Amino acid sequence: MSDYFHSIVLEEELCKGCTNCIKKCPTDAIRVQSGKARIMKERCIDCGECVRTCPYKAKVAVTDPLEKMADFKYTIALPAPTLYLQYDISKFGRDKIMTALKMIGFDYVYEVARGAEIVTKASNIYLEKNKDTRPMISSACPAIVRLIQVRFPSLIPQIMPIKSPMEVSADNARREFCEKNPGVTPDEIGVFFISPCAAKMTSVRNPIEVSRSAVNGVFSIKSLYFKLLKQMGKIKEPLNILQAGFSGVRWATIGGEAKGIESDKILYVDGVQNVIKILEQLEDDKLTDVDFIEAAACPGGCLGGPLTVENMYVARTRNFRFKSMLPKLLKEVTDTELENTGFECSPEHIDVATLDEDITKAMQKLRDMEELYQMLPALDCGACGAPTCRALSEDIVRGKAKLTDCVFVLKDRVRNLAKEMMELEGLLPPTLDNKSEGR
Ligand code: SF4
Ligand code: SF4
Repeated sequence: MSDYFHSIVLEEELCKGCTNCIKKCPTDAIRVQSGKARIMKERCIDCGECVRTCPYKAKVAVTDPLEKMADFKYTIALPAPTLYLQYDISKFGRDKIMTALKMIGFDYVYEVARGAEIVTKASNIYLEKNKDTRPMISSACPAIVRLIQVRFPSLIPQIMPIKSPMEVSADNARREFCEKNPGVTPDEIGVFFISPCAAKMTSVRNPIEVSRSAVNGVFSIKSLYFKLLKQMGKIKEPLNILQAGFSGVRWATIGGEAKGIESDKILYVDGVQNVIKILEQLEDDKLTDVDFIEAAACPGGCLGGPLTVENMYVARTRNFRFKSMLPKLLKEVTDTELENTGFECSPEHIDVATLDEDITKAMQKLRDMEELYQMLPALDCGACGAPTCRALSEDIVRGKAKLTDCVFVLKDRVRNLAKEMMELEGLLPPTLDNKSEGR
């Protein structure tokens, strides 16, 4: 766990300790201590909620520097479908964006929208062959997969075991480039995902579905936005290198994936807190009439990712326009493209709840925690630096906080102490009590 890479980090000097972020974190991973936010790494799912919340921009998402391209003889860009929605599509169409990516130095461009079309086909085949487990949950959003690993381990068997469009695209892009360029070996090629979100960066460094990611680096949409815009202004004749239709491009918005599933029992949900409510229902066996759940941590889906530039509502409007402009598919998905789309590894439970390795001690700590919780006001005010009173009681049991971190407990203690001092003052013997003079 200690060498697990996280793309969300704190810029400590910018943090004011305001506690705004602690309540938004879906896994209670943030505490404010000594006036600064601290992220508990084992709990963080890199969802980016704290990046969106912090008024001081103290939480940031780390991605790779563009210089990383120089480490490879050949480079391939994998633009996420969200990239297309960042620009006014009447002036800067998809073909111009693809051409501009080549102009800034990539040797080959492969649309992740095409990878999404392959994943859709692979998912439908999987659902047809495996009818026993329902609903299956999309594995495309790495923050949601990790949320399930941390908070909903009983749902792990319901994660769709099909690789993400990013991984599928990287495999197919590398294969295609080698086929088109005889003599090039796969290790000479650097494959770079152009990402709307931080969780993808984390998933490349710590992949869930494969032992080693086929992606060599992740660049944020923000870091390429103006570079591409500058190049697009120079393009007279864009290259004709598009591979995907609307069924792949629409994955940028919530529902885009689920609508490709061959069932009318689909559910799609966006925003990590909404996803949690749905997963809670699922845990309680309340969603028996659903075949497939698409769940995205970001509001609106990937176009609401923290590494995007455009307002997500404006971006979504562009997606509606794509619908009328594009055919569903530009070409059918082939058997070759479908090869190796299944998970190579299984996601595992990440246990952050166990209070002690020793079961007897753990049970005692649980009882202590409950007792401590009863002493707290249950206001979940956050003034102690923990998101809830229950989280503070857990921190106390783990030796990371003390009861008087609660301002209400401290106030009561101070008041009781003052009262006791008053009472004691009244009990002073006449030899010490000035007030008794002349009695
Ligand atoms: S929101 Fe969190 S990270 Fe931002 S200043 Fe407040 S405590 Fe620090
Ligand atoms: S990225 Fe998400 S899980 Fe991690 S600390 Fe921020 S809000 Fe919590």
